Amino acid sequence: MSGGLVDLDCTLCRLSETRTQVVPGTGDRGSALVFIGEAPGRDEDLRGEPFVGRAGRVLDGALAAAGLSRDRVYITNLVKCRPPGNRRPREDEVAACRGNLDSELRALRPKVLCLLGLTVARHVLRKDGRMKELAGTEHRLDVSGRGVRVFVAYHPAACLYRRENVESLRESVRLCAEAAGLR
Ligand code: URA
Repeated sequence: MSGGLVDLDCTLCRLSETRTQVVPGTGDRGSALVFIGEAPGRDEDLRGEPFVGRAGRVLDGALAAAGLSRDRVYITNLVKCRPPGNRRPREDEVAACRGNLDSELRALRPKVLCLLGLTVARHVLRKDGRMKELAGTEHRLDVSGRGVRVFVAYHPAACLYRRENVESLRESVRLCAEAAGLR
């Protein structure tokens, strides 16, 4: 276990057969703000840390634009192991990994969650909808009996192909930082 938050030897789904390693969340465990991405990619699988590749650089840029750095927030993923070829995680893989995310959130007790991308938003909020609808409003989630403010942002990888999403991601990160009292 990594400090008890995530099972580093997890074999609950088929991703354990192809991963290099489990990629647990990183950052400040006392932070009021937690980012949740979809799943590790190739760089993350090799380094054992979330968002260390190209999408990570986009996220770093959005954090910097909001006056933040990685060490002031916590960054994790919905699924902790790389899906082969960076495909979307499957329903049963997300379900198998849910316990890891839930135990992280129970331990971290964040005030604010920033959900990166539609797949993450749909699973965490258990809600359907398009990006424009989900990103336009603030949501609430109950974590161990506490209300958590939730914002949905464009996934940093979606900003690599559509530069116009960058400003939206940055605005969401600014909103999250303010809601968490970090600026
Ligand atoms: N994309 C994600 O969703 N998570 C990562 O850790 C890297 C890329």
